[in-house]
Amino acid sequence: MSSLARQVVAAIKSVVGPGPAVLHEPLFRGNEWNYVKECIDSTFVASGGRFVTQFENDLSCFTGSPYVVAVSSGTAALHIALCVAGVLKNEEVLVPDLSFVATANAVSYCGAIPHFVDCEENTLGVSPARLRRYLEKAAEKRGDYSVNRETGRVIKALIPMHTFGHPAAMDELLQLARDCNLIIVEDAAESLGSFYGKRHTGTLGLAGVLSFNGNKTITTGGGGAILTGDKKFASMARHLSQTAKVPHPWNYQHDQIGFNYRLPNLNAALGCAQLEQLPSLIDLKRKLFQHYKSAFEEIQSVKLFSEPLGARSNYWLQTLMLEEDKIAEQEDILQDASRAGYMLRPAWQCLSDLEPYRDSPRMANMISKRLASRLINIPSSPQIVRNGST
Ligand SMILES: *Cc1c(COP(=O)(O)O)cnc(C)c1O
Repeated sequence: MSSLARQVVAAIKSVVGPGPAVLHEPLFRGNEWNYVKECIDSTFVASGGRFVTQFENDLSCFTGSPYVVAVSSGTAALHIALCVAGVLKNEEVLVPDLSFVATANAVSYCGAIPHFVDCEENTLGVSPARLRRYLEKAAEKRGDYSVNRETGRVIKALIPMHTFGHPAAMDELLQLARDCNLIIVEDAAESLGSFYGKRHTGTLGLAGVLSFNGNKTITTGGGGAILTGDKKFASMARHLSQTAKVPHPWNYQHDQIGFNYRLPNLNAALGCAQLEQLPSLIDLKRKLFQHYKSAFEEIQSVKLFSEPLGARSNYWLQTLMLEEDKIAEQEDILQDASRAGYMLRPAWQCLSDLEPYRDSPRMANMISKRLASRLINIPSSPQIVRNGST
């Protein structure tokens, strides 16, 4: 065991307790049973019932997003948001190279092409400075659009992603989007409860998406939501995610090829109960950050990632960043921790390196590639603090 790996495992143990510990597990300690039971007793487990509307309203209150459309997953939310934003076949969409594969897949579902762009060290999100410099060379204005000089395709949109809950540099990205006529759809799948200044992540662009997958800050089992301030956008998103059925008491009339992406009432019931717990869950996760911060203070060569200036993070996944010259130790740390019963995880492999995206356009994504080798997520469940092992 390398001495760095030994120190890291000891620090995790001092916070988490003897283990084993997974990366992230949900916490159900409120009205989850009551609402799910009510839902089953009512027989309205799928469509109908009160919970989907309530969940949407509660999300609207919490995030400040005027309109919310609940759907069956974060990926579905991204797909619908991009469709409604007008992303078309053979257009390009700028996607951070450091993200979960869903961000790129949703672009592909539209027949569009993800164009991978570099991230930065201080937010882990898209680097506005590097992207601006890149687009000045790689793109040109033609009419209303930016066009990729090399491929001749329209670059239609940018999807900033708030990595592990930490808000990306949205002011700069929004300015860049205005300058280059890019639509912004935020991938806020990881950042429910994270604020950029006073604004909730996912409410800064034309639309944003949330995920309620089992490993996220709150869960509906599986689920997602589209946030937007545009009423027409919201009603188109709802229509498209519900098979594009024209409202009628009995007739099956559909005015376009829609998707079956509705969130079932049963899942929304769980979501309503979870959302009631959200402030206290975030409180626990922010406390966990403080515990880890003291535990890792003494260790040279790794730094616990903290929220960017001007932002308030939900600290969805706690993250270690290795010094540049310690990249070789990443594997050792993952292995030693796993042997000790602690589940750690490297950041994702860069999307531009994945087989299906080998031929996609990209910048020279040096920083993302380094970050992929330097980042390690450590156990982040809220119950670590709640169970009082620290
Ligand atoms: C979880 C996640 C998604 C997709 O959410 P699902 O609900 O699992 O479909 C999309 N983007 C990012 C960055 C995510 O972490």
